[in-house]
Amino acid sequence: MTANPASVSRSMKLRDKVSPEEWQVRVDLAACYRLVAYYDMTDLTFTHISSRIPGQPDHFLLNPFGMMFEEITASSLVKTHMDGTIDKDSPYEYIPAGYTIHSGVLAARPDVQCVLHTHTSAGMAVSSLECGLLPMTQTSLRFHNNIAYHDYEGVALDLDERTRLGRDLGKHQSMILKNHGLLTTGRSIAEAFVLMHRLEKACKAQLEALATGQKPIALSEEVKEHTAKQFNGMHLSNGPIYGDREWPSLCRMMDRVDPSYKM
Ligand SMILES: [Zn+2]
Repeated sequence: MTANPASVSRSMKLRDKVSPEEWQVRVDLAACYRLVAYYDMTDLTFTHISSRIPGQPDHFLLNPFGMMFEEITASSLVKTHMDGTIDKDSPYEYIPAGYTIHSGVLAARPDVQCVLHTHTSAGMAVSSLECGLLPMTQTSLRFHNNIAYHDYEGVALDLDERTRLGRDLGKHQSMILKNHGLLTTGRSIAEAFVLMHRLEKACKAQLEALATGQKPIALSEEVKEHTAKQFNGMHLSNGPIYGDREWPSLCRMMDRVDPSYKM
């Protein structure tokens, strides 16, 4: 993407104005938007990824409404108060449904830094099946007994839904929004992204396998639980954060594709 002079100027001004910690979160979140676009998990401009800002518990960052993920930059992200007020310096607005979903999850889960929501074809398809995500591949077993479901209520414009989103997510990291799409959370932006990459793959594999009309191999409950523990035991709340190992490499890949996300 070619940088225009106005966006370069805004980027330089904002970088001087915000804390180094906020700027780093902005860069990482912009990289996450670019990665979601790179891996073909976007729905034009209509989904959202949020991140808390270090030292500012009442604020989080969201995407500017109307901007494709592949052109989102660190300085274009919209700083939003938990009460819905937008930072006065932002020339952009957020998507109203994005505010409902992300403020609901972030308010319910102080341990979560990042919330990632998609409307991929595979995610929407699995979200609309009564069986939900089936424990049939190694990748899907990460989510065995470890994924929440939230009933569909219409487009998320009713702020009361925030309470039900938080209640349904409970202690889980991931949630299927029934008849709608996928949602992952992370203790870092990297964790939410890599978890979504796994969840998306699990949904795609399930649909491809079921489309053959063949019966999936049934795994024993013992093996399913053992595998889920192997995955999730590696990432206890006080252990290493899932995805942080891969994150610098993913960002280097985005640098090679188009480093303008850092502006
Ligand atoms: Zn949505």
